[in-house]
Amino acid sequence: MAAAGCTGCRSIKKRMAETKYDVLIIGSGASGGMAAYALTKKGVKCLMLDAGPPIDFERQRVNKSAHELPFRGFGKPGKLSHVFQATEFNANQWVDETQVPYTHDPKEPYNWVRVRMIGGKSLFWARMSFRLSDYEFRAKDHDGYGDNWPISYSDLAPYYDQVEPIFRVRGRRDGLMQLPDGVFIEDTSGESECNKRFIAAARERGIPNTKMRTSMGRGQFASSFNLLLPDALATGNLTIVPNAVVREITVDKNTGLANGVNFLDRQSHREMHATARVVVVGASCLESTRLLLNSGIANSSGVLGHYLHDQFYITQSVQAVVPEARDGKSPNGFSGGFIGGGGYMPRFRNLKTKEKNFLRGYALDWSTGGSPDAKYFPLYGEALQKAVESCRGAGFSCTVMGEVLPRADSQVRVNKTVTDAWGIPVLHIQTHYTSNEFNMAKDAIATLEELCHTCGWEVLGRHDQMFPPGYSIHELGTCRMGDSPKTSVLNKWNQSWDIKNLFVVDGSSFVTGGSQNPTMTILSLSMRASDYLAEQMRKGEI
Ligand SMILES: Cc1cc2nc3c(=O)[nH]c(=O)nc-3n(C[C@H](O)[C@H](O)[C@H](O)COP(=O)(O)OP(=O)(O)OC[C@H]3O[C@@H](n4cnc5c(N)ncnc54)[C@H](O)[C@@H]3O)c2cc1C
Repeated sequence: MAAAGCTGCRSIKKRMAETKYDVLIIGSGASGGMAAYALTKKGVKCLMLDAGPPIDFERQRVNKSAHELPFRGFGKPGKLSHVFQATEFNANQWVDETQVPYTHDPKEPYNWVRVRMIGGKSLFWARMSFRLSDYEFRAKDHDGYGDNWPISYSDLAPYYDQVEPIFRVRGRRDGLMQLPDGVFIEDTSGESECNKRFIAAARERGIPNTKMRTSMGRGQFASSFNLLLPDALATGNLTIVPNAVVREITVDKNTGLANGVNFLDRQSHREMHATARVVVVGASCLESTRLLLNSGIANSSGVLGHYLHDQFYITQSVQAVVPEARDGKSPNGFSGGFIGGGGYMPRFRNLKTKEKNFLRGYALDWSTGGSPDAKYFPLYGEALQKAVESCRGAGFSCTVMGEVLPRADSQVRVNKTVTDAWGIPVLHIQTHYTSNEFNMAKDAIATLEELCHTCGWEVLGRHDQMFPPGYSIHELGTCRMGDSPKTSVLNKWNQSWDIKNLFVVDGSSFVTGGSQNPTMTILSLSMRASDYLAEQMRKGEI
């Protein structure tokens, strides 16, 4: 990663001035990183700008003891009021909201969780790696709501096939239509007795389960930082400029084509211009949308910024305890033991049957063998201590991840009165969940409770309180692709309908997101768009 190092900043800038770049990529996360990987391998000269610094693991990932922190690890850093994932231990990894704020109606909170570093959020993601299916790509055909994607599963499958081996996805092939199998490192691990019981109870109701599908990367680090950018740099076709905050994409008045960007140095705030034949935007869903809105481009449809969606999350939705495992009777054991391990229940609602009060469906990420929190016991003192101790390692708990409907009125726009630390107007986010999501959540909790009862487990607590939108960190849809320039921002190649040398390759291009975590799809779309772009450049079409 030498070219990304700050020590080389002066030489990078010199190289930037001397080189004619084919493609300028904004963002070094999963989407931008994949564009660089795919394009540079085809001999395309790329310049990548990222707002964040490169990370130095040796210097910046230092463990501190809780007693060294002002709030002993529990404090809520003020600069991160919306980032529920932030603790005192990891506070520096997230974007400082006092530097890059955003606004929303206080009645409609939004948790926008961002990372500005070389590698973006792929430095910290949980690596759950799924494919979408035609239940998402052809969603309108299935239930009449919203829009289909302009592509089908078969268009993206060859790209998932290439991305999964790079990220070394581990999983089990189960032949499920709603969760297509991939090119996996086969997960051959067994199931604990409790897991078998839960899986059987679900199967009786026609509900499938599979193993979690996870990117193993290298040493369980599966980032653009270690899996994509080093290969791209090794081609000699990539220059990475860190600390480059892109303010706007510039357009040639005569041709109407994008010709580069204006960006500011993060530290000095000095403004500079970079040029290229093509601009690829991968700054993450909402930052890319903000950039396009601030540039005043690619919005002849009026759709830019609309259809924001994600997945709603309910953590610890149902907490149960396995009576036979109480009082340390059954120590954890992942394969062959009595309790421990977990599974993934993909969407099972509204596939062959139709629910009365909600469309689409949800997935469940469940585990056994944990220890229920003290809050589940209405006790004090010694009695509480005994109850907690008795249930240690005997718990069942589950996170619900539900599909959120893309709606036109769920939208972001530029707030002209508030700017960030570099004077760039910020986003105003306007979205909320609706009865479709609330009814789905209720169904998930009732189903889970029923399954626990079938297993003979004692339900200690249940709730259907979802986090505010954004919490899943799966924001999608504000720069959607489609079949028509009247109703979408991008065509089926992630290419702007309005400006043919402008591509947007992150999650903003989604039409619907399903209940699956989106990053494998983002990576595959970016690779597909980059292949198309390289071919168009070769043919002289762009
Ligand atoms: C804690 C956590 C857990 C997650 N778990 C999962 C999971 O299990 N499975 C899953 O599928 N997904 C997960 N995600 C989401 C996943 O990380 C994202 O979907 C994915 O990384 C998005 O990639 P991206 O390239 O679109 O955006 P990012 O990774 O955010 O990259 C965008 C880059 O653009 C840069 N940038 C932004 N604005 C500008 C600008 N104006 N100028 C220049 N550069 C700019 C940023 O610095 C950043 O490096 C998780 C995310 C987090 C944080």
